Parts: sequence; structure tokens; C-alpha cells
Amino acid sequence: MKSYRILLYYQYVRIEDHVALAQEHLELCKRIGLKGRILIAPEGINGTVSGTVEQTQEYEEYMRTHALFSNIVFKRDEAESHAFQKMFVRPRNELVTMKLDDDIDPTVCSGKRLRPKQFFDAMHEEDVLIIDGRNDYEYDVGHFRGALRPAVSSFREFPQWIRDNLTPYKDKKILTYCTGGIRCEKLSGFLIREGFRDVSQLDGGIVTYGQDKDVRGRLFDGQCYVFDERITVPINHTAQRTIVGRCHHCGDPTERYINCTYDFCHHHHLICASCEQEQEGYCSQTCRDADIELQASRHN
Ligand SMILES: [Zn+2]
Ligand SMILES: [Zn+2]
Repeated sequence: MKSYRILLYYQYVRIEDHVALAQEHLELCKRIGLKGRILIAPEGINGTVSGTVEQTQEYEEYMRTHALFSNIVFKRDEAESHAFQKMFVRPRNELVTMKLDDDIDPTVCSGKRLRPKQFFDAMHEEDVLIIDGRNDYEYDVGHFRGALRPAVSSFREFPQWIRDNLTPYKDKKILTYCTGGIRCEKLSGFLIREGFRDVSQLDGGIVTYGQDKDVRGRLFDGQCYVFDERITVPINHTAQRTIVGRCHHCGDPTERYINCTYDFCHHHHLICASCEQEQEGYCSQTCRDADIELQASRHN
């Protein structure tokens, strides 16, 4: 058993003074010794933190007795060390934003929740549409087999993408999934409001699916993108494990992500080890040229 844990969790719940709560929560997390990133908004809390087993237990215990957060479901992953450098608790206007004038409240409108085995079974039904509720770069390193790749690089682009691409499928059975479930709560609610008749979401997300003893991550190809130092984590624990990520330059299989060396680009892209060396971390010749020019101008 490893001595560190990473917790992933969220809860949609009405918070009166989210700025004050964020401040108080930061002090608590620092006192315990956790590291990570927590967002607190009027609509709830979303966090991923790392710490020793004892530290994460202390945090869970605190949350269990908290008036607002006692129903939180913690997803736990074992780790060798912290997965973050620092502890941030940030007040935000929304936990996940679709930039809608009339935002979705998942406590009022959300898709049916499917446990991992139910989701696995539903994926085999005829005429289902599986929608990945994450960004394109997350899909590219791992996703459910047969899922639609959303052409979005941020969550706020989903409403337009759905209206442009999915309108003819309103009568189909829709399955959505994301990393831990928080984005699907809004995404599935949005689909229902747009007139989709049969919308279900993977409860607890890919992370919970990967931990389920029955399905053991079956039908998930590649790895799951996560927003901490691990970058990707394995989900499929059967012999079916595959690499679906492809190098941005040469197309070879890879699961390494880097940000473009050029400061004004920083494009997050998949790259194989040999291309990383050869391209010096630039995502394109344009970025390399621009950076060389920039360096030259700084030395003049
Ligand atoms: Zn390559
Ligand atoms: Zn670039």
C-alpha cells in the first residue's frame, strides 16, 4: 500500500458566501498539509488534492461533518507522493462554465445516473450515441470505444458544438461521460433542455469506472487525462490496454504531453520522445521561427 492519496471530488450545493468559504477552506487545507486545487463557487465545490493517507483521511473526516459537504463522494487514488506543488483554493463564479445566459442547475435538471456496470451495458445497446464530455486533447489520449470526439478545446464551446452537430439525434439514446462526473451533470442537463429525450451520464466519471471491480475499465482505450502532475492515469485493467495517443509530429503512438516551448504558444500537445528532442519542444516550425526571432531581438 502506497503512503499518499489523491482525492477527486465535487458537489453541487448552494453556497452563500463562496469567497469567505474559500479563504477558510484554504487555511484548513494548509493546516492539514494538503496540496492541490479546489474551486469554490456559489453552485458548489470541486477539488483534487494530494496528501499522505492520514492527511487525506483528516480532510475527508472534516468534510463528512460539514453542514454543506457531508454527501460528497471521494474518489481515491493511491500515489507515491504529492501530485501538486502548492495548495490553491480559488473562488469562482461557476465550477464549470458553459457561458449560458441561463445556466444549468444540475440539482434541478440532469441526466439519469448510470453506475459503471450500467454504463458498460448501455454502451452495447443498439442506436446509442456516446458523447465524450471533455476537451479534444483529453479525448486524444484516451476515451471510450466508439465515443464521439467533441471538437472543443474548452467546456464553454459545448453548447454551440451540440447545436451544430447533434441536432438530428434528439431521439437517440445519449450517454455522456467525463473525468469525475462534474462536467456531465451540466452537459446532460443542457442536452435535456435542448430537447434530447433519453440522456444518461456516467456517475462518478471515468475515474470511478476504472476502479469498478466488475468492469475493470473495459472498453476504455488509452489512458485518462487528469489535471495534476500525473497527466494521465490507467483506466483499463484488462489485457485490452492500448495506446491511442498519437505524436503531433510523426503520428507514432505516445502518451506524453508537453506545452510548446514558445512562450506565446504553449500549445498542449502529444509528442513522442524522439520528436521532442528533434523539434526541441516546439509544436510547429512557425513557433520555432517566431521564438528564434524573439531570442535574437532580445539579444540586440
Ligand atoms: Zn513523433
Ligand atoms: Zn507552438
